[in-house]
Amino acid sequence: MVRPMTCPVCGKSVSATSEEGTSAAPFCSLRCKQIDFVRWTDGRYAIVEQLDPSRLAEAMRGEIDVDSEPDE
Ligand SMILES: [Zn+2]
Repeated sequence: MVRPMTCPVCGKSVSATSEEGTSAAPFCSLRCKQIDFVRWTDGRYAIVEQLDPSRLAEAMRGEIDVDSEPDE
């Protein structure tokens, strides 16, 4: 049985057959890949143009928990 691959950032199942999935593997999208990159670098070297700057700043400060599902 093949265990479905899930995105380490948002937990969404990753389709290895999608174009974005393969290029962003093991993340579900390039956006999550960038989020993970920001976490690793702790924002020190982050240049993430595809993220909204204000949201990115919050993510770097750990104020956005992207691991949890939206629950408001
Ligand atoms: Zn994801």
